Amino acid sequence: MKELPLYRNKTFNRKKILIMFLAVFFMIMFLIGRLVYLMVFCSEYYGGKAQNLHERERDIKAARGRIIDATGTVLATNKSVCTISVIHSQIKEPEKVIAALVKELGISEEEARKRVEKNSSIERVKTNVDKEVGDAIRAYGLDGIKVDEDYKRYYPYDTIASRVLGFTGADNQGILGLEVKYDSYMQGTSGKILTLTDARGVEIENAGENRLEPVNGNDLIISMDINIQKYCEQAAQKAYDKKSADGVSLIVMNPQNGELLAMVNYPEFNLNDPFTLIPQLEPEEGTTLSEEEKQNLLNQMWRNRCISDTYEPGSTFKIITATAALEEHVVALTDNFFCPGYKMVEDRRIRCAKVQGHGAETFETGIMNSCNPVFIELGERLGVDNFYKYFKQFGLTQKTQIDLPGEAATIMHKKENVGPVELATVSFGQSFQITPIQLVTTVSSIINGGKRITPHFGVEIRDFDGNLVETLRYETQEGICSEETSETMQYLLQRVVDDGGGKNAKIEGYAIGGKTATSQTLPRSEHRYISSFLGFAPADDPQVLVLAIIDNPKGTYYGGMIAAPVVKEVMENILPYLGLDK
Ligand SMILES: [Zn+2]
Repeated sequence: MKELPLYRNKTFNRKKILIMFLAVFFMIMFLIGRLVYLMVFCSEYYGGKAQNLHERERDIKAARGRIIDATGTVLATNKSVCTISVIHSQIKEPEKVIAALVKELGISEEEARKRVEKNSSIERVKTNVDKEVGDAIRAYGLDGIKVDEDYKRYYPYDTIASRVLGFTGADNQGILGLEVKYDSYMQGTSGKILTLTDARGVEIENAGENRLEPVNGNDLIISMDINIQKYCEQAAQKAYDKKSADGVSLIVMNPQNGELLAMVNYPEFNLNDPFTLIPQLEPEEGTTLSEEEKQNLLNQMWRNRCISDTYEPGSTFKIITATAALEEHVVALTDNFFCPGYKMVEDRRIRCAKVQGHGAETFETGIMNSCNPVFIELGERLGVDNFYKYFKQFGLTQKTQIDLPGEAATIMHKKENVGPVELATVSFGQSFQITPIQLVTTVSSIINGGKRITPHFGVEIRDFDGNLVETLRYETQEGICSEETSETMQYLLQRVVDDGGGKNAKIEGYAIGGKTATSQTLPRSEHRYISSFLGFAPADDPQVLVLAIIDNPKGTYYGGMIAAPVVKEVMENILPYLGLDK
């Protein structure tokens, strides 16, 4: 072998290095070029691939917290359901898969074939499938069908307190009522199933699943009592049928702390089928609704009239006028009045409900008679400034802050627009509007010794095992009126039931306080009425307060005649039930 001279060797090495360098250089250039090509021209393709890998991370829904009433009865819970999906790349016998889907899920063959033949990594066929159906599909043992267990919200009592409890959407999120308000407590955290897949996105068999377990939501404990709620629904239904009314609302509250024991808006709707209109709202046969019309009717059906609708309260509002007058010391129980059947205010003749007049009466008999001229007089004695001062002091200018979404505010005249006529009509409960929950809350605060309370259903948050997580607290405001005025109002309102306009609510042996009202909806030419009665017991130490509102009753429409008996019926059931003995 010829030995190469040293210098040649050097040159050769230099050349070799150069060639090597160029080779590496071009290789790098090629790789950069390829990378740019991949990034710029093929990004969509690879991006899709990467996403397919991610889609193999399946969510495991967390069990939503339950809603449980004061008696421990579960009012909202979860039902095990299944989600059925197909994975195209794993299907070995497509015709058998299609046949199974058609048979078990009741879908068309065309629909099943579309899903099965779609070349996606996982295709959802149907959600909210009963567990038995899911089990049946699993029993076929066919490759490429996935049966995932899931939860669906379930309301064991269907229609009970529908607008209060509310319902959830497919994504486990509250849509209405307490389900919205306490969503963050009840929702929980979903878990994940991570499945191993190869580069083509095909699941690797026997690799096992990597599970991140979900965290269940917490339970909401509410003050509602299902037995009281049922008594109220029965009473509301009876009045609804008897009076061919448009609706009947009932609220039962503990006036000492604002705990709501019942809230009825009859007719209720089925929480397990919230997108189907109740018969009362269904259009006439042969009419088809547009999407928008249907949604408007659904919104109307879901509306909680006790908190979202305002109305002219009428004579129940005289409780507030009387309280303000007593608090301002512009009237005493023995003050004398005279009612000729009307009262002149400026050039207007404002009538009393009793056209022939109540004649001579004291303040005490004036409230028992619900005499408009007496309250017009009280309004005049108070004056606009004082009236508005007490309005604010009693809490009427603010929302009640009830723990339900959708509360409406009071609609009141601007103070600067109130002349003598407006002041007169406001004094006996006309020409302005409040919500039923506002009336109940304000009257409760007056008769409980003068403590403004916050109406609420939520009491506690507990975990699934029943351990206390949080006690819910609500604002109270002391001294909205004096204890003396509060006691006087208890006495006066008991007189109304014992010997005045509220005697149809009287129950032998019980001390009940209350006030009737008959109001008109606008326009007055339609002669549409709202009859109501607000009652509480025991009159001298109120533990329970009931408001009944009958919307558009046919025939007799006086609150004392038709709403007072509804409250009486409710009280006859709940006073013994609550252990409020005679
Ligand atoms: Zn009168």
